[in-house]
Amino acid sequence: MRIANLDDRLVLLDGNRAIDVAKASDGRFDADPQRVYERWAEFRSWAASAPDLPGELFDPAALGSPAPRPAQVFAIGLNYAEHAREAGFETPDTAPPVFTKFPACITGPYGEVVLPAGGHTDWEVELVAVIGHRAERVPAARAWSHVAGLAVGQDLSERASQLAGPAPQFSLAKSFPRFGPVGPWLVTPDEFDDPDDLELSCSVNGEVVQSGRTSRLLFGVPAILEHLSAVVPLLPGDVVFTGTPPGVGMGSTPPRYLAAGDELVSSVTGIGELRHTFVAAGEG
Ligand code: ZN
Repeated sequence: MRIANLDDRLVLLDGNRAIDVAKASDGRFDADPQRVYERWAEFRSWAASAPDLPGELFDPAALGSPAPRPAQVFAIGLNYAEHAREAGFETPDTAPPVFTKFPACITGPYGEVVLPAGGHTDWEVELVAVIGHRAERVPAARAWSHVAGLAVGQDLSERASQLAGPAPQFSLAKSFPRFGPVGPWLVTPDEFDDPDDLELSCSVNGEVVQSGRTSRLLFGVPAILEHLSAVVPLLPGDVVFTGTPPGVGMGSTPPRYLAAGDELVSSVTGIGELRHTFVAAGEG
């Protein structure tokens, strides 16, 4: 099953058609996409028993994040060995670094992003998981049952402020406006042959800069959810960025960052792609 946020309304997707959930359910489910995760099991069984709903062709430009206002956003750093190396850090062995992207930076799959003045804005394509059932001290073996679905994420990162100061600080440097694209829709885990082995890629102006597979994650989705939920209860609708494969701009020689006019495409095979263009501060 695929769901999306179309003009701030929850829709079920059927190919290139969208079914408005609030209308099709006669108001049983709220139009607000963020609220569906609170009743995820009930929603899934309703959606499964209503297969012949009429859909309408939709304009992809109207898509927003399928989880637009998560209570919590978690992000995992250094979760692919080759990326840890290119970033100049040790590979984490017992626990990965965890930070947040403040929820106000979450945005949809397409559009313009303003480059912070004087900054070095970098790309990080990532698999994103959205929580469907509250998870508290969940073992890895049961973790997938707490996931509503998967989306493509882009963990945009401003490296100058990330690496300034006495210690790297990740959260603020990764939370400029629209630095958290998620989408283009949410795909439930049962849609994949193996949700632990998905192919990611990222390109700048058509040149592939990142490619990887989530089977190479040091801590896969189940291990991440076990690690996080041992400390913090994960709430329905929370968003988890799982880490980026190698090929970020900071790791190339010489370092390369996004410039005004660049187009960034971030994709996960079996889900879809995000497409963003960058504009200089003052132009956006
Ligand atoms: Zn990241």
